[in-house]
Amino acid sequence: MPIMRSMKKRLIGHLDADCFYVSAERVRFPFLRGQPVGVLGNQGACVIAKSYELKAKGVSTGMPIWDAAKLCPEAVFVKRDFRWYEVLSRKMLDLLHQVSPRVEYYSIDEMFFDATDLPQVFGLPRDEAVTELQRRMLEEIGVPASIGIAATKTLAKLGSDSAKPFGCRVLLEDPDSFLQSQPVGELCGIGRRSEQKLAEHGILTCWDFSQADRLFIRNLLTIKGEALWYELHGDSVQSILTKRPPHKCISRGGSLGKATADPRRLTGWVARNTERLIEELDYYQVFTQRLTMMLEFKEGGGWSGSVSLMEPTASFNTLVEAGKMLMAEANVPTRVSHMHLLAEPLCFRRMVQRNLFSRGNNPRSERLAAVKRLINEKVGRFVVRSGDTLHLPDIYEDTTNRYDICDVHGKMCF
Ligand SMILES: [Mg+2]
Repeated sequence: MPIMRSMKKRLIGHLDADCFYVSAERVRFPFLRGQPVGVLGNQGACVIAKSYELKAKGVSTGMPIWDAAKLCPEAVFVKRDFRWYEVLSRKMLDLLHQVSPRVEYYSIDEMFFDATDLPQVFGLPRDEAVTELQRRMLEEIGVPASIGIAATKTLAKLGSDSAKPFGCRVLLEDPDSFLQSQPVGELCGIGRRSEQKLAEHGILTCWDFSQADRLFIRNLLTIKGEALWYELHGDSVQSILTKRPPHKCISRGGSLGKATADPRRLTGWVARNTERLIEELDYYQVFTQRLTMMLEFKEGGGWSGSVSLMEPTASFNTLVEAGKMLMAEANVPTRVSHMHLLAEPLCFRRMVQRNLFSRGNNPRSERLAAVKRLINEKVGRFVVRSGDTLHLPDIYEDTTNRYDICDVHGKMCF
């Protein structure tokens, strides 16, 4: 006799905090509520997040503070603090884990979760349960968020994006008119170029996209576009990823603050970026087989070069020497504005076979690295650091440089 099993249709939720950095500042500084607030990047020059009040004055993300202050003289500007934002981000994750064990840490303020059992968890009808989750997020953590619920990740994200600020949208029965109202560029994964290509074929809305021929979409936008086509039809092809897949490449670096051609400062940056890179290699328990350096020059152009390492390693001495070698090779002709160090290919430490001539098991330097790590874990990041970094006093004096968004582990994307 055939066994009848009732298949419950899985539902996916997407939760997205509203102007997260600003909301996070308002949690600890309640006087900022209702005020026009801008959060500034690490150089303190550009607005990287804004409150709705500031947006209403015409201030956009990326705008320099002097322009923003002209548009809104009464605005309050604060420097970003990723350490604090991560604290709240983890609390949001914890709350979602009470709803379901299947939660994807998509970005610092966006999470996908299995919403199938939401009504049972809260003992409420579905739509009310969604609002209850939003209410608890605000009451227990202090962060306003928008929520989308649908059969697929793509639809759920479309739902929460369109419900902002502080809205909920459940897209289940008959989302046709909703899809007609959404420009195709709103789809996660459709960039400016894809949008143009689609427009050339008269595909302007998400509805147009869903009504186009599937194979036509695949030809135009590869299987990534085809996946979106399925997702818009309610066929879930993108699952909730509860674990981040292993990295193929780890990189650290960024802006040097004020551009410089001073060899001592540049060496300082090599050491700092190497130390940050090694933290990551340690965290993920991997070694790298090659080090690549990428430099951008203030006056335009750049340079990149690589060193293959004798054996897979995460040793500070080896990597910093490789970095200094690359710096010498670059023979910097002008001021450097950005530096990135890339480690790849990577391999898991427990899988590495040491060869006969292996130099990696140098007990002295490994013991030293372990002590350095231990002290920094206990007392604070960069408390013990390479002497080369003493050439960057301004960078280490400014505490907002201690922690970056890439230091928030486990997220799927930036
Ligand atoms: Mg957000």
